[in-house]
Amino acid sequence: MIVMLIGAPGSGKGTQSALFCERFAFTHLSTGDIFRAEMAAQSAVGRKAAEYVNSGKLVPDEIVTEMVAGKLDDLKGGRYLLDGFPRNLAQAQSLSGILAKRGAAVELVLFLDLTQEEAMKRLTSRRICGGCGEVFNVLTRLPRAEGKCDKCGKDLVQREDDSEATARKRLMVYEDLTRPLVAYYKAEGILHEVDGGRSPDAVAASLAEIVAPQLGAR
Ligand code: AMP
Repeated sequence: MIVMLIGAPGSGKGTQSALFCERFAFTHLSTGDIFRAEMAAQSAVGRKAAEYVNSGKLVPDEIVTEMVAGKLDDLKGGRYLLDGFPRNLAQAQSLSGILAKRGAAVELVLFLDLTQEEAMKRLTSRRICGGCGEVFNVLTRLPRAEGKCDKCGKDLVQREDDSEATARKRLMVYEDLTRPLVAYYKAEGILHEVDGGRSPDAVAASLAEIVAPQLGAR
């Protein structure tokens, strides 16, 4: 079963993906996480992606699509949660093609709706652990010891692309290129909208209400 999570940067896709995958035993496929890992490893893909990721632009479609196709290669009736892919209509069409070749299709699209103002506030107040990647927030989820990760004790940092100017750019890119996917998947009849402005637990409960019956039905 393939489920997709769509939402603006800052809408909680990462947080919800982690909760969702643990609860329903899905494999999490986040193109943003993959790029950050490739960049940290300074691989060929990571070096190519860095200039786009750090300036808030989308990485070119060919690079992303090839990478995702590789990850979905050994799709064997598993459960996958796509997070951050597709990001535009061309990627959505490529994804349909990649899945069709493997006899699969996206079954459910979960859209986390959030105002631009709230997304901006969340992005610029987000801090992540430089060691384990745990996410904190200087307004809503302070660590126990200032600037240190609760889980591994390493320093908390701001993602380069969460700076005010880059966050604003990412939200513009989202509105122009990614948001049209909402209408695209609505027209396919597989989109479910959830208010992403609530607490993580409340959002997770809404997502579970949508997904559980579909999983139970198989
Ligand atoms: P995210 O963690 O999903 O906010 O992604 C961080 C950055 O990775 C984005 O701002 C893009 O530069 C890049 N990225 C992630 N997913 C994609 C994608 N599907 N297409 C193009 N660029 C992407």
